Amino acid sequence: MKFENSLSFAKRLDKADALKSFRKHFEMPMVNGKKCIYFTGNSLGLQPTSTKKFVNEELQDWAKLGVEGHLHSRRPWLYYHKFTKKALAEIVGAKPIEVVAMNQLTVNLHLMMVSFYRPTKERFKIITEAGAFSSDQYAFESQLKWHHQNTDEALIELKPRAGEYALRTEDILQAIKSHAAQLALVIFGGVQYYTGQFFNIKKITEAGHQAGAYVGFDLAHAVGNVPLTLHHDGVDFAVWCSYKYLNSGPGGIAGAFVHERHAQNFELPRFSGWWGHYEKERFQMKKGFIPMPGVDGWQLSNFPVLSGAAHLASLEIFQQAGIKNLRKKSLLLTGYLEFLLKEIDAEQKFFTLLTPSNPNERGCQLSIYMKQKGKKVFSALSKAGVIADWREPNVIRVAPVPLYNTFEEVFRFAEIFRKAI
Ligand SMILES: *Cc1c(COP(=O)(O)O)cnc(C)c1O
Repeated sequence: MKFENSLSFAKRLDKADALKSFRKHFEMPMVNGKKCIYFTGNSLGLQPTSTKKFVNEELQDWAKLGVEGHLHSRRPWLYYHKFTKKALAEIVGAKPIEVVAMNQLTVNLHLMMVSFYRPTKERFKIITEAGAFSSDQYAFESQLKWHHQNTDEALIELKPRAGEYALRTEDILQAIKSHAAQLALVIFGGVQYYTGQFFNIKKITEAGHQAGAYVGFDLAHAVGNVPLTLHHDGVDFAVWCSYKYLNSGPGGIAGAFVHERHAQNFELPRFSGWWGHYEKERFQMKKGFIPMPGVDGWQLSNFPVLSGAAHLASLEIFQQAGIKNLRKKSLLLTGYLEFLLKEIDAEQKFFTLLTPSNPNERGCQLSIYMKQKGKKVFSALSKAGVIADWREPNVIRVAPVPLYNTFEEVFRFAEIFRKAI
């Protein structure tokens, strides 16, 4: 599409937006008594207006039924994780047996690494992107220590080429190939949290498997943001959180994927708990763990229903909107933002974009690398009612989210940003 730098053009796009009705299903935060421009759905997604109802229903059922709610509430708590499966499977491109809502992201990452990072004398290396999210780095480091590995030798962190901000797929594939004989695990972000780069999950997975390694992804910034086909791509495992693009509330319940090919593999070592035990015998409280088939067999504890209720409220919206439709709008919305930003500073004197310009290699987010006046510009944005995200040393991340952001907001943001500069 040929974009135009004008308010009337932005308004025309909003008018033609098939998803425009979804905005009113979200609570919009206020700054100085006015609705803000909320471009931080990549950090904490907004609250759906239906969340209160879902959570309240559980509070009511708990009040009315007490423990009987496990079986007799309107969404029996005993089976709660099952109610999320269909929507999650659609969002990550998986079968219901491959997805489950459980725990928190970093917990799930550890659980998956317990099963899929099994270093031997020959195969012990992990390949990942340099500058992964801190929690992931700590998880990798501690897993390596746990297995008495030397971090310097075993952890391969891939950096972009000199002068570039994103990793080239060909370089990732080459690195996997060159470490093949010693490679145990390939693990990448789906969308890199800092640069916004959307990695080529299919190609990385194929290369990892060819090298004889397991392949996993941290989808914190990918889930609900970009199209995913985990089953088809053959990914071994994936983890995500639900409070970013999935709008399920601060600290909301996370999720995990384990490919169907591992569904019946009960030999895989794992850390177990009663909620992963064979369902029909779970309450017999017997000795001897028998896992549920599929990813359900990795569950530890009984389901956090209040946080799960908020998750369900949001997943219902994703099912109504459709992940394909969301992506279609997202490509336009972020494309428009990129177009307007480039018009502001064509010579890149003040800033440059870290995020790949190829729309297939990014999601909603654009990471603006400030060459000067970064902090000042950011504080001017805040004063003007923009909620964006500052990352040290000099990056402003903005993410127009197709469920609730508009083209007019993108236009107004660009105006505010231009004036701030
Ligand atoms: C947001 C995020 C996390 C946060 O981890 P929690 O366990 O949810 O606190 C971890 N990794 C990545 C890549 C993230 O983007």
